[in-house]
Amino acid sequence: MSNVAEDVKVQLLKVGARMAAAGLVMGTWGNLSARLPDKNLFVITPSGISYDVLVKTDLVVVDITGRVIEGERKPSTELMLHAAIYSACAQAGAIVHSHSIYASALAVAGKTLPPILEEQVQFVGGTVSVARYARAGTVDLAAAVVDALGQSKAVLLANHGLVGLGSTLDEAYQVCLVVEKTAQVYILAELIGKAAIIQPGDVAAIRKSYQTGYGQQV
Ligand code: 13P
Ligand code: ZN
Repeated sequence: MSNVAEDVKVQLLKVGARMAAAGLVMGTWGNLSARLPDKNLFVITPSGISYDVLVKTDLVVVDITGRVIEGERKPSTELMLHAAIYSACAQAGAIVHSHSIYASALAVAGKTLPPILEEQVQFVGGTVSVARYARAGTVDLAAAVVDALGQSKAVLLANHGLVGLGSTLDEAYQVCLVVEKTAQVYILAELIGKAAIIQPGDVAAIRKSYQTGYGQQV
């Protein structure tokens, strides 16, 4: 594989370690992937290996149909979920699947996360829907997530967890962090009162000003 592929693998290990350290996953759950310059290929974490012992040679290169191209390990059981998202979303460069607590609580309750926080609207785009229930690791789950995704960068997986995507691994990881924080705030707000939802006109304006004017853009 090319030097770029080797760099992507290093990046994948780093983001996996950060995701575990941030508590977005426990043990061996969750998984991550990133596309390679040949957009029909991506690198994915292996099934059932803890993030703290993962090394580059554990990662698996697969094609968009799920066929293993390089690597000795069995790829993540969510291989077809990642493949289906890459097939459906040309702009997705990386996918992070987490099992974080507050996002999972909403996913168990079957509750959509409405637009309630500035960084959620800025970074994730607004509402995060819950995909219909399908068992982990099935092609039904892959189809359910693609159906629920629309233009969003995140989907809650009923009775399971969260999927976030981005053009880079950093972005996909950050999407999962922001959704987790927003899910926590939403649940707390609903406990002490009623969460106030940001209205569509404000959602659009916040998105626009973030995309055109936030940060150190020139
Ligand atoms: P893998 O260890 O096979 O990636 O499975 C973890 C998971 O989260 C399944 O949904
Ligand atoms: Zn999972």
